[in-house]
Formats: sequence, structure tokens, C-alpha cells
Amino acid sequence: MKRYIVTILAITLMCGLLSEGALAAGEQWENLFDGKTLNGWVQRNGKAKYTVEDGVIVGTTVLNTPNSFLCTEKNYTDFILELEFLVEPGMNSGIQIRSHSYKHYKNYRVHGYQVEIDTSSRAWSGGIYDEARRGWLFSLEGKPEAQKAFKQNQWNHYRIEAIGDRIRTWVNGVPVADLKDDMTSTGFIALQVHGSKQAGNSIKWRNIRIQDITRRENKVIKALIVDGQNNHDWKATTPILKKLLEETGLFTVDVATSPAEKQPMDSFKPDFAKYDVIVSNYTGDEWPKATQDALVEYMENGGGLVIYHAADNAFPKWKEWNEMIALGGWGGRNEKSGPWVRYRDGKVVLDNSPGRGGSHGPQHAFQVITRDRDHAIMAGLPEKWMHAKDELYSQLRGPAKNITLLATAYADPDQKGTGEHEPALFTIQYGKGRVFHTVLGHGPDQLRCVGFIVTFLRGTEWAATGRVTQVDVPDDFPTADQVSLR
Ligand code: ZN
Repeated sequence: MKRYIVTILAITLMCGLLSEGALAAGEQWENLFDGKTLNGWVQRNGKAKYTVEDGVIVGTTVLNTPNSFLCTEKNYTDFILELEFLVEPGMNSGIQIRSHSYKHYKNYRVHGYQVEIDTSSRAWSGGIYDEARRGWLFSLEGKPEAQKAFKQNQWNHYRIEAIGDRIRTWVNGVPVADLKDDMTSTGFIALQVHGSKQAGNSIKWRNIRIQDITRRENKVIKALIVDGQNNHDWKATTPILKKLLEETGLFTVDVATSPAEKQPMDSFKPDFAKYDVIVSNYTGDEWPKATQDALVEYMENGGGLVIYHAADNAFPKWKEWNEMIALGGWGGRNEKSGPWVRYRDGKVVLDNSPGRGGSHGPQHAFQVITRDRDHAIMAGLPEKWMHAKDELYSQLRGPAKNITLLATAYADPDQKGTGEHEPALFTIQYGKGRVFHTVLGHGPDQLRCVGFIVTFLRGTEWAATGRVTQVDVPDDFPTADQVSLR
């Protein structure tokens, strides 16, 4: 009987914990506000006043200024955020999460998920609004219990859980929003002071703390590098790629090395299905049909594939392969292989003009320009950065289906280039699988480029999991005019 009661109690306790989010034990809280200064925060957009008074952050409305945001310098992916606030009646405010600010997007306008603070009679506090983007994602319409959770004229407590594609909120312990949305997986946190027709209204925040659980949710990612033949020095580059991946602590890496050129290939049967992601450093003889089929099946069922530099020279005649990699070069590729992918006037253009598939001028350092700054692989990176002296792959051709262009590089005619912005980094959806394709990294010297390293590591994680937890941008990341090597 006693045991029975204990069991019931344990179950009740567990349910209680689960209803307040799935993670309770072993919590590691970190204060985002030190109680004295705004260190770690930066103000964006409007000129509302943010000050620290008596251990709380005070945000005060100022006339004739748009919405203001006090933003964390750091990005957060998966987290539990808790804070308290005291807001004057009549004000509107909110907490931004997974948000961004870029010049290319409405001239630095802060945008992204906002957990609403709504003192009006509508009472949608704890609902989720997509600031400067899609508007309301989770309103409190028809949810009277949730609408009652916020209390006027007293400190209110928010708990916000953002884990994977699920965002949940609690107001004073009452569950309010439960949203599934995968538009943005990472970004900063910000405290909003809404633009106002009245100056001097204030909102106070305190006890702002976060549990960064990005890593905790992630298992080790199993990667397989495939090599054995290549017109490049695969014996030198594979160990470097392996080391880069392993040093993150996120990956374990095996290597599958094929028989040498013109040797029987029948024995080459890597067990793709055992891995979360396959990194191809291979171009050479055709694989056995069974191995090709295994890769196609693996990808159709949601596998991950990374195409590294000359790996896109491989298999010009293998239809599914070319769909996976979207674009390839050499091996007789021409207009029959598919279009060139061009970036012109801010748009991706498919160019079916006749001509070769694959070329590059002499090696030189060149600028990589991000074209999709909201993509998890690119989030937080500078818009432009100098890549180390490398071949600038150009005129790649292929089916170019389901492609997302992440970054381009301008092939300068002065360097015998095409005069086009050539695809440098891109992703491809293949069945349920994800492909990350980097044309960068000819040899060991090029793999020292911090821009290559960061995008390769993020791209490999994304191909494996669909997400990127390596959100910190290293201090030695290259700038718009300066190469950075390790
Ligand atoms: Zn090369």
C-alpha cells in the first residue's frame, strides 16, 4: 500500500514537472542581467530609454521614436527563459526571442518571435507575435483562462521555452502559448519598449535568467567521410575534415575509403544508414549499383549529405546523385546537365544557355556574400567575408531542384572569372534528406580559412539534424576585406 502511494505521488510530481516543461532536474541557470549594468546587451532601432535602477532594468517611452529593443549580444537556440516584469497600464511591450537585425532586412529592423506583453483589454499577454514579419502566430482569442493570467499593477512572471520547432509560454504559471514553427531556429533575446504617443511610461524587468539547453538536447552526431579517389589530395584533406568535426565535440567521425582507381569496386559498400550525415570527399570511378541505391534510399528517408569541393565533380551520369548535389562540374557536363544558377538583381536565376559545366580561374582570395542570412547555417555571420586564396568554382550545372542559395562569390573577369555571382554555399532538399554543398576548400591551405571551417561545421550539423547549435561566431571570423586563417 505504501509503495502504491509513493508511486502515485511520484507520478503526480512528474506530471507536475512535465506540465511546466519537460526539463526540471539538474537545471543550470545563467543570469542575462547582472543587476547593475547593461553589459551583454545592445540597444537597437528606437531611442526609448533603458536604464538600471535598484537592480532592475527600466525601459521608458520616448516620443517620436519607433519600437526599441534591448538585445542580448549572444544568440540562443534552445532555451528556457524566465523573467519578471512590472508594466504601467496602457503600455505595450514584449520579449523577443530567436530574433535578428540585418541591414538587408528593412534596414536593421528587429524581427522575429515576440512573446507579447499586452496591458490592453484584449489581454493577449503571453501570446506570440512575429515582429516585423508575419504578425500574430498564437493569439489568445477564445482562451479566457490564459487571458486572465496576466495581472495589472504587479510583478508578472514569464517562462518561455523554445526547443526545436516548439515555443511555449507560461504567464504566472498558467500555460498560454504552444506554437509549432520552424522559421527561425536561433537568434537574440530582446526587451521591447513599443513606440508610444506618451513619453515617460515605464516597464521594469528583473530576475532575467536562462537555461541554454541547446547542447543538452543533442545526441552525438555520427558522420562518415567517404574518400579513396579524387583529383585532389584527399589523403591530406580527409584527416583535417575529421579533426575539425571531432574538435567540436558534436561529432564522431568514421572514414570509408574506396578501392583505388580502376580496381574492382564491388566490395565498396559503406553502411550509410548507420550515420546521421555522409561527407563526400570523393570523385572517381562509379560506385556499384547497390551502393548507389543505398545512398539514394538513405537520402530519401531523411539522411544528411555534405558535398565538399571536388565531390561535385563526381558521377556526371548518375541521375539521382546530380539531383542530390543540384550542381556539378566537369566530367563532360554541359547544358544537357541542367542550368547554370545565377544570382542577378537580388534574385536566383536559372540560365539554360548552352555552355560547359564547371570552370575556375587562377586561385585568389575572394569575397563570399551571404544571400540567405536567416538560414541557420548563416545566422549571425557577417554578410561579406574574405575566403582564403582558392579556386572560385564557376559555371556549375545540374538539375538545380529544391536548392536554397546561401552564399555566392563574384567571379571577377580580372581573375578570368565569368563576371557572375557564382553559387558558393547552398542546400538542397532531396526526398526527406538534406544536402549542404560547399564549393570551397581545394586543399589543406584552404581548409585553414575560418569562414570555410565555420560554414562547413554548421552545414554538416544542419545536414545531419536540420538545425544548427554552433551559433557563436568566433572572434577570428574573416571580415569583408580580411582573410583569416587558423
Ligand atoms: Zn580544387
